[in-house]
Amino acid sequence: MSNLPKLDIAVFEGDGIGNEITEPSLDLLSAASEQTGGFELTFKRLPAGAGTYRQEGIALPKESLNAARAADAIFLAAMGLPDVRYPDGTEVAPQLDLRFEFNLYAGVRPVRSVAGLPPVLADPRAAALDFVLIRESTEGLFASRGKGVVENDQEARDTQVITRPVCERLFDFAFDLAAKRRAAGRPGGVTCVDKANVFTSFAFFRQIFDERAALHSDIDADRAYVDATALNMIRRPWDLDVLVTENMFGDILSDLAAGLIGGMGLAPSADIGDEHAVFQPCHGSAPDIVGQGKANPTAMFLSAAMMLEWLAERHSIADCARAGAAIRSAVDQAFGDGGLIPADLGGSAGTVQVTQAVMTALRTPR
Ligand code: ATP
Ligand code: MG
Repeated sequence: MSNLPKLDIAVFEGDGIGNEITEPSLDLLSAASEQTGGFELTFKRLPAGAGTYRQEGIALPKESLNAARAADAIFLAAMGLPDVRYPDGTEVAPQLDLRFEFNLYAGVRPVRSVAGLPPVLADPRAAALDFVLIRESTEGLFASRGKGVVENDQEARDTQVITRPVCERLFDFAFDLAAKRRAAGRPGGVTCVDKANVFTSFAFFRQIFDERAALHSDIDADRAYVDATALNMIRRPWDLDVLVTENMFGDILSDLAAGLIGGMGLAPSADIGDEHAVFQPCHGSAPDIVGQGKANPTAMFLSAAMMLEWLAERHSIADCARAGAAIRSAVDQAFGDGGLIPADLGGSAGTVQVTQAVMTALRTPR
């Protein structure tokens, strides 16, 4: 038995391509931790998702939930299948239950260009995008999930919920992140994205943002409407730094942001609360490409890097941060010379080729 710090990771491979990208991601995590040597990872594979619902009649078994609660971090691939639904017709989506159950209010979606991949925007400044979208992940319009009403087959209603305690923590999280980014050489400003000109709930959202901004007066605070933000994300994404927004707006804008860097296969995410955190690629289970060997594991690799960096900070393990940085550098190195283009970006590299290239880069950094 070694005396190294041990970190227990709850692993949900979920559905669809989740099964194809999980193993390579765990191999990469193990390789990165062995290479730095200062900590050990143990993985506990847990069932949940559409397949589990089909087999057991429950999408997120109690044992899985309890094991996830006991773990140091939760690593998740993708859950849900279009034809597996709850009786009310909505998709089986236990990844959303985890966010509610563990109060994972801050959905962090870094948007960073990877050099060597085909550009999406013609402007050369788009080759070096580096901004972060923070999507509130426990309330907003999603608070209505499973509670919407249809009356007399004539009218349907979903209700948006914005609460003060969640907003305060969310905005503080955004300002803290901006401060860290500024310390690392970025401009480090926060923009609140809402629709405060139309909706009472968003006016309240912005009011709380203004209050928290006053408490973080060393950080630039800006406000923008979501429609204008969608336009600017295409026209001038290089000007963005930290954006913070409501759940539904964040859901939509994060797919748009992923599109700017080449698609869902490259977009990592973290859902962070005060006690727990889930790390998973932004994409879903992509049933259309299951079994073809085409699933791009990069988004999950980058989510693994985020997980290591979060664990490093929480447990003060420097080698854990080093391992996270090593995974990110390995991804950059693998794609950097332009010879490795994944299938979802129009190339021919599938899961195996991308994994091998990133693993090789991890073992032989330049
Ligand atoms: P959700 O409903 O959870 O958003 P989804 O099944 O609609 O999930 P998305 O993640 O939104 O899937 O992805 C849309 C499409 O993008 C997929 O159908 C697939 O073709 C492609 N895609 C997504 N992730 C990947 C990936 N990792 N590698 C390759 N292609 C992907
Ligand atoms: Mg989708």
